[in-house]
Amino acid sequence: MAQIDDLPPLREVIAEHGLDARKSLGQNFLLDLNLTARIARNAGPLSGYSVLEVGPGPGGLTRALLAEGADKVVAIEKDQRCLPALAQISAHYAERLIVHEGDALKFNPQELVNGPLKIVANLPYNVGTQLLLGWLTVPDWPPYWTSLTLMFQKEVAQRIVAQPGDKAYGRLGVLANWRCHTEILFDLNPKAFTPPPKVTSAVVHLTPRETPLPCPLKALERVTAAAFGQRRKMLRASLKALSKDAEALIVEAGLQPTARAEEIDVAGFVELAKVFERANAGA
Ligand code: SAM
Repeated sequence: MAQIDDLPPLREVIAEHGLDARKSLGQNFLLDLNLTARIARNAGPLSGYSVLEVGPGPGGLTRALLAEGADKVVAIEKDQRCLPALAQISAHYAERLIVHEGDALKFNPQELVNGPLKIVANLPYNVGTQLLLGWLTVPDWPPYWTSLTLMFQKEVAQRIVAQPGDKAYGRLGVLANWRCHTEILFDLNPKAFTPPPKVTSAVVHLTPRETPLPCPLKALERVTAAAFGQRRKMLRASLKALSKDAEALIVEAGLQPTARAEEIDVAGFVELAKVFERANAGA
């Protein structure tokens, strides 16, 4: 096991603070500091950046982020039991770790951090997608964060990077790839976690596109929700719920009314969103 600092091994930390994992909090801890160091390194250079970490738990990834040179780690943890263990890390790293207790869904990271920010986390599976959607749909672009390096269940990771024709292609893939470059960095076997989850996990890396195709976000969300809500239907049927002139609007967007959602690329959905937005504005 790697020695990345002089703090006690994570198993000792967990025993000392009674941090038995709770399923309701999505707690699958990474105790191998080789692995947490690998995730931290994959977030790219950390010196000169603050890092937002959601769900530090006993602090394995947190320690790696600090050891890899993050100027500051700002962590949000819902489980009060973890706070004493995190306070020890903060003391060891000269207060470069700042911990906020609470639900990450209720925090605005922009109020917690100034300056360049990377987001790195082994996300709790029950709120992971919701958090990602929040980071992807901020009004200003490029966003306040420089990159996202996130652990998800592999099935979610595949949806994030999915391209037209892939089984996992859907709303999340369109939104993520419209605004970001996305890639799966590596998979993690369930055995890497304590306790092991039922499924394989994967680390995903997202970096903002400098100039995503201009597109009204709300319209893109509505169009993709309707199209993938009935993914086996042709667009002329699945988009009927949005407009009685759906077929004409699909043609105006340069698409085939007989095409299915899974065949339409990001540029196609962007055109659809713009046409639907214009039609609604004129309605
Ligand atoms: N980062 C640690 C690691 O890699 O070992 C723990 C990861 S564990 C998958 C998820 C962590 O998120 C847990 O510590 C859990 O208590 C915390 N958590 C769960 N729901 C949360 C929420 N809504 N807001 C903030 N933290 C949350």
